[in-house]
Amino acid sequence: MKICELFQTDKPMLSFEVFPPKTDTGIESVRSAVNAISEFKPDYMSVTYGAGGDGGRYTAKIAEHIKNCGVTPLAHMTCVSATKDSIKANLKTLQDIGVQNVLALRGDLPDGYQHGDYRYASELIAEIKNYGDFCVGAACYPEGHPESASQKEDIKYLRQKVDAGCCFLTTQMFFDNSIFYNFMYKIREAGINVPVVAGIMPITAASQVKRVVELSGCFVPRDFTAIVDHFASDDEAMYAAGIAYATGQIIDLFANGVTHVHVYSMNKPDVAGAIYQNVHAILGKPSLGSFQM
Ligand code: FAD
Repeated sequence: MKICELFQTDKPMLSFEVFPPKTDTGIESVRSAVNAISEFKPDYMSVTYGAGGDGGRYTAKIAEHIKNCGVTPLAHMTCVSATKDSIKANLKTLQDIGVQNVLALRGDLPDGYQHGDYRYASELIAEIKNYGDFCVGAACYPEGHPESASQKEDIKYLRQKVDAGCCFLTTQMFFDNSIFYNFMYKIREAGINVPVVAGIMPITAASQVKRVVELSGCFVPRDFTAIVDHFASDDEAMYAAGIAYATGQIIDLFANGVTHVHVYSMNKPDVAGAIYQNVHAILGKPSLGSFQM
């Protein structure tokens, strides 16, 4: 199924994300995470594109497994080290295994590396649309991409991605919903009208906060900082508070008319399950108690 078809209804939707293994030995543990997460019947499940030359191979393998579990897969793809031939080979693999959805990204070049045949995600989007009948999504940044001189400039380039053929956007994680609402207002004003999936990252350990902020540059609001300050030394309490905070964000998004939420569940079925359990009634789905876990 194509993800763009999911957006034709207004019912609340939840999707989850996994990342691929780095080597063959890691495949089984990622597959078992996918098996467990697929029990929650997400509207789709995405698999990221690992850095390095073999990223595409493992992404495709996991996307195929997601499909075999009965869930719509979304395979990420980046421009890093990509040539026109490698992208075409990757797309052929996805076509052969029946994966119809691709999230097209630039990726981040390691220091000292030159870009390959594609400099920006918009060029990759155009290539994928030209290659075949894929539903293509792209990334967006409610707080602006860290390399952008201004949000206005970032939104100008976001528009290029949509014009190149991407039919939905997924946001970078954010911890303050008002930043997302403000961003939505600005992109709609800029004529970007495709569906936007809100990306939520449940932070369940204090050690995650520093890493996440360093990687994404996201603003951490005072109420979340208070949670980390208070519960950092108690793992169980921090886990529960992190799930509750992410749940609060998701419920606020649904209550304000946002219909699509993507959870950065990071190969953690327990995190996906806890969020699912907290919002299953809103999604009109059964409680976890009715699953054979
Ligand atoms: P682009 O859209 O190409 O933008 C990159 C920068 O260039 C921005 O500052 C933009 O404003 C600017 N720009 C764009 N077009 C132009 C132009 N024509 N001229 C001048 N400047 C321009 N990384 C991975 O390695 N693997 C993944 O699986 C992955 N998944 C992700 C999923 C999501 C939802 C998000 C939000 C990010 C993901 N990333 C992933 C990280 C992503 O690759 C980085 O954030 C990267 O720095 C930017 O990727 P992009 O596709 O947004 O780039």
